[in-house]
Amino acid sequence: MPRVGHVVTRNRGTDCGSIAHADSAAELPLALVALGGEVVTSRRTVPAAEFFATHFTTTLEPDELVIATNWPRLTPGWGGALEEFAVRHGDFALASAACVLHVEEGHITDARLAVGSVTDRPELVDVSPLVGHSVDVEAARSVATTVAASIDPPPNLHGSPKYRRRLVEVLVERVVARAWAAAS
Ligand SMILES: Cc1cc2nc3c(=O)[nH]c(=O)nc-3n(C[C@H](O)[C@H](O)[C@H](O)COP(=O)(O)OP(=O)(O)OC[C@H]3O[C@@H](n4cnc5c(N)ncnc54)[C@H](O)[C@@H]3O)c2cc1C
Repeated sequence: MPRVGHVVTRNRGTDCGSIAHADSAAELPLALVALGGEVVTSRRTVPAAEFFATHFTTTLEPDELVIATNWPRLTPGWGGALEEFAVRHGDFALASAACVLHVEEGHITDARLAVGSVTDRPELVDVSPLVGHSVDVEAARSVATTVAASIDPPPNLHGSPKYRRRLVEVLVERVVARAWAAAS
């Protein structure tokens, strides 16, 4: 939450509003997707990963409201981290990543990772190769390189696709290492 805008913005915004707004650069949608959370609407409960359609667009019908969001609690064995890069604190991120890992007896048993800002919606990426392994510097770097190669960020005023892909690489390496440390 400290990364969402400034205090005034945070105090006035709502979690359902941020989710319905569906900005790929927003922190709450990214975290909800990475955690495997759900969006409860006036008609149904949708996994967060299926709720976001594209830029600022959800799968809500015109007469459907978001009424709650379900956030899975990280129980013992789980660890998570979210990182982003913005030009100034409070700006929308140029790239962001969030990861949750479950660790048992020194090995990962479940892994989820989502990237934001560089895709049209917060997007889950496949990090299943991490399962069954532990994380050291090399493993975190290797998964980061694979994730960065799998995305195709558009250019914007602040960075070229190559620069934003490199940001993703750095951020993924950090969230994997931090989630591992938190879970262990
Ligand atoms: C200066 C500034 C900086 C910001 N920086 C960040 C940032 O760094 N990171 C970040 O994540 N966000 C940022 N935001 C966005 C902000 O924090 C809010 O999350 C966002 O604007 C949603 O606010 P809100 O809850 O008031 O919803 P609104 O702004 O009122 O609504 C947003 C959209 O969702 C729709 N909507 C709202 N609630 C519902 C609902 N329950 N069901 C269906 N549709 C709904 C509205 O019709 C509208 O289209 C920033 C905003 C400002 C103004």
